[in-house]
This record gives sequence, C-alpha cells and structure tokens, in this order.
Amino acid sequence: MIQKRRSPGGNRGHAHAGRLGARQVYGKNGLNSTRLPENWRERLPDPRSYYRKRVAKLGKAQGDGWAQGQCPFHQDRNASLTVNLSHGGWMCFAGCDSGDLVSFHMRLTGLPFKVAVRALLGLRS
Ligand SMILES: [Zn+2]
Repeated sequence: MIQKRRSPGGNRGHAHAGRLGARQVYGKNGLNSTRLPENWRERLPDPRSYYRKRVAKLGKAQGDGWAQGQCPFHQDRNASLTVNLSHGGWMCFAGCDSGDLVSFHMRLTGLPFKVAVRALLGLRS
C-alpha cells in the first residue's frame, strides 16, 4: 500500500525532460510548445483589473474607458500613460509607444508574444 506512493522517480525525470524539450523547440522555432488556444483573445484578463495591478496612480476611467496613470516604461512624474479599461489599449504621451494589453504585458515582462499571451491566460509554457 505504501509502495504505490514511491513510484515517481521516473515521473519526475520525464517532466524535467519535457521542460527542457520545450525550451529547445522554442529557441529554434517557437512552434508547438507555445501554441495558443484559438479563443485566446476572449480569454485575456479584464483590462480593468490587469491595469489596476500594474499601473501606479491609475485614475478613474473617462466615459470612453481611458484612464491615466504612471507609465512603467519611463521615469514618469506626470501620469503620461493612458490605458483603456474597456478594450485594453494603452498609450504613453511621453513617446514610449502604444498598443494593446498583450503588447503592454510583453513590454513589461520582456516576454515574446506567444509566451506573454500564455502568461496572461494563466497557462504554463
Ligand atoms: Zn512612457
């Protein structure tokens, strides 16, 4: 009965090998290991809660959903960043860039596109 619990030596080795394999594949081509679910756009987190957690001094959204806060991409003293809490778009008036929620997350984390999306969906690569 206790013997059943003592099996995972092989298991652990397998998981480890799998992770290594994924790394190698990604390094070469970025194929299978970073596949995205077809409906990934619908599964992205709510922009409101996403930006509230990551943008300092985020103000209230205007009628069209845009709210201003401190840009995390440059030394911002003036709340130069505006983010849309409805559709997730963002833009920095100081010239950092603009984009959507995914590009924001990529820039914040330094992750490549598919890995960033998977992270946003809560999937492990
Ligand atoms: Zn900026």
